Amino acid sequence: MIPLTDVGWQTQSWQALLKSAITDPVELATILQIDVPIFRSEFPLLVPWPYLSRIRPGDPLDPLLLQVLPQPREALDVPGYVADPLQELDQSPIPGVIQKYHGRLLVVATGACGINCRYCFRRHFPYAEFQPSRAAWDQIISTVAADSSITEVILSGGDPLLLNDRQLADIARRLADINHVTTLRLHTRLPVVIPQRIDAALLDWISQTRLQVVVVLHINHSAEIDPAVAAAARSLSAAGVTLLNQSVLLKGINDQVEILTDLSRALFAIGVLPYYLHVLDAVAGAAHFDLPETRARHLLAEVVKKLPGYLVPRLAREIPGEASKTNLAIHPLA
Ligand SMILES: *Cc1c(COP(=O)(O)O)cnc(C)c1O
Ligand code: SF4
Repeated sequence: MIPLTDVGWQTQSWQALLKSAITDPVELATILQIDVPIFRSEFPLLVPWPYLSRIRPGDPLDPLLLQVLPQPREALDVPGYVADPLQELDQSPIPGVIQKYHGRLLVVATGACGINCRYCFRRHFPYAEFQPSRAAWDQIISTVAADSSITEVILSGGDPLLLNDRQLADIARRLADINHVTTLRLHTRLPVVIPQRIDAALLDWISQTRLQVVVVLHINHSAEIDPAVAAAARSLSAAGVTLLNQSVLLKGINDQVEILTDLSRALFAIGVLPYYLHVLDAVAGAAHFDLPETRARHLLAEVVKKLPGYLVPRLAREIPGEASKTNLAIHPLA
């Protein structure tokens, strides 16, 4: 068994849990008692204890392990898989701001993240240090204030919940001062990776803002949800937050009808509705997670037959230059 109870992580603050995250693949393999090739990548292993505690010891194919364990095949050069598949990094007038879709402005609030998912596009950008300066935030706020079509501001990353609550409360207050802004959205995996992040300080500013707060979680498998994640979700709901989830369709992790239907039901049980199921962006190093689009469409066609409509995520692909994410039609003909 994992000596999980010996390390005392359960009582640590979220900040301490970030610092005590496992970064050494040998240590991970020892803790989990698995025999796997050790691969060190420039995009290092990063997995905090609360997430690690949900991985089944002794199982090299555990779906949570596979999301975080660096593997030798990441080094393969596969044609079509590139560093910046979405080509969005140099389009931006203000560093960290992406305004691609009508009515919504997305801010990369920090490049840092609480976990390193192997399929992430962040793997090619050394932007862990990136964070808009005070001056950049002034510019972001005046951009939003000057454009009454922007009703929703999305904080993304990295993970925006790595900002402290003083910073977040300040951003929420400045946005709430702009009349045409109705909604503040956070794209975050931290409530799943370190559910301790949903603490009194966070719930305090969320409960007080006049903005409608939407939190879009990132959960790919029902085994990522444990009682602590459920409690975090309940606290957010109680504070008035609308909870949605986006997943990435990943070969060997959630590319089965049962796994997808279990995930939707497990999300609903904690008050979260499935929103997007993204097919993988063609990121170099992640080709082994990809599956053909026809397979994705067949899978969804089966999922649709098993679930109420509100538990079926939209199968989506991001195509550079399009005015929205592209919904992929499902394929009923197997
Ligand atoms: C995904 C995304 C959004 C949000 O799109 P929704 O379909 O509203 O979830 C907004 N801006 C950018 C740049 C995005 O990539
Ligand atoms: S949580 Fe999201 S941004 Fe962070 S590493 Fe995973 S996929 Fe990338």
